[in-house]
Amino acid sequence: MAITRFAPSPTGYLHIGGLRTALYSYLWAKKTNGEFKLRIEDTDNARNNEDAVKAILEAFEWVGMPSDCEIEYQSKRTDIYKKYIAQLLEEGKAYKCYMSRDELDALRAAQEAAKENPRYDGTWRPEDAKVLPEIPADVEPVIRIKAPTEGAILFEDGVKGSMKFEASQVDDFVIARANGMPIYNFVVAIDDHLMGMTDVLRGDDHLSNTPKQIVIYNALGFDIPKFYHMPMINNPSGKKLSKRDGAMDVMQYKRDGYLPEALLNFLVRLGWSNGDQEIFSMDEMLELFDPNNINKSASAYNAEKLLWLNAHYIKNVSNERLANELEFFDCHLEGHDKKEMILDLSKERAQTLIELKDAITKILDVPSEYEAKGSKKFVKENTIEMLNNYLQVLESNKETLHLACDYEAVTKPFIADNELKFPQLFQPIRIALTGGTQAPSVYDIMAILGLEEVKNRLNSAMEKNFNKE
Ligand code: GLU
Repeated sequence: MAITRFAPSPTGYLHIGGLRTALYSYLWAKKTNGEFKLRIEDTDNARNNEDAVKAILEAFEWVGMPSDCEIEYQSKRTDIYKKYIAQLLEEGKAYKCYMSRDELDALRAAQEAAKENPRYDGTWRPEDAKVLPEIPADVEPVIRIKAPTEGAILFEDGVKGSMKFEASQVDDFVIARANGMPIYNFVVAIDDHLMGMTDVLRGDDHLSNTPKQIVIYNALGFDIPKFYHMPMINNPSGKKLSKRDGAMDVMQYKRDGYLPEALLNFLVRLGWSNGDQEIFSMDEMLELFDPNNINKSASAYNAEKLLWLNAHYIKNVSNERLANELEFFDCHLEGHDKKEMILDLSKERAQTLIELKDAITKILDVPSEYEAKGSKKFVKENTIEMLNNYLQVLESNKETLHLACDYEAVTKPFIADNELKFPQLFQPIRIALTGGTQAPSVYDIMAILGLEEVKNRLNSAMEKNFNKE
């Protein structure tokens, strides 16, 4: 049973890299009948903003991955962190350091000049028989943890394998600032422990934090969770993903007409696979996902793949669902008696909900103009007469005209009797009904509009002579 979390810092919107981390954490928890928890890492007051928190929570609601516990906010947990700082001080596992900023800068400069890695030199670290400097009057101390001075920090990463950080790579780092506020790595370790984390999945940009967090776990005697550091998502040319490539606010995907299941399906494959399977329902993801199979190398964002998946889900979710989703785009089909027909027809070619809305609008809205190029090509001298004859055929069969096949049954003989080619009749009808020549089957459109509306639109186009000069 895995307890996992997603712990965004609300310094901006949730972007897809973050959502992928959250998805993997969510899947692993749910697959093992564990829990998935959300924690907002908002201790950095200057950079946090409430709108970002709202946007993050909204994104989680949209994709349907709720937290199994009340969402924790680090900004409300300072007292808890301070208690552990006090405990470490009392146990001699942390100490006060009175090094001033100037001294620290001088130390850094000297180390850099000697081509050494900058690290704290242990001036204030208490040791047996060591005499510490006199406490200066004007310096508020920071708190440093006593990190191991020899050996190595080892852990088995679920993605990267055996990890080893020499003790020399981790110094006695600060765990609380001079104003008493605990620092990032400290609060993450405390929270992950208190929230019961068994597995921590995060981006490999956090890998260098892990040895520090392990030092804290060890100092407090906490069990160390299993870590999975996931490689980044790059753009197709292998560079860092930029906004233009898709590293945008998750909610922008909603605004751009993506279904959340398409986005999640897309993300699950960005860094994990099950043979060459591309389509994964949530149930399949839950059955098959295993963080121990996360790819070791970075994955590449592929916008076409996302569109392809979105088209797949648009075709396969229920019409009821599509109608609900379309409300967001101001396309209201509720109560329309041909709702099913409209959706069945329009969803076949739509890659996004915006394209779906456009396809629907093209059918439902009376055209305000007629495509000039199409009219010129397909509306000939005898077209008006042909359409009038055709309208008469429709009129005399009006009792039978309901479904697309009914229109087909009367139209085919009309075409044959008049020795027409299909485009001669269909293209002017398409233009009259939808304004352009790029529309789905004429029979379907006529069935959706109904005979009265078909007559109105055909007559109107003829009256205006298809807006031809
Ligand atoms: N708050 C960190 C971030 O937004 C994540 C911390 C973690 O996963 O340990 O990048």
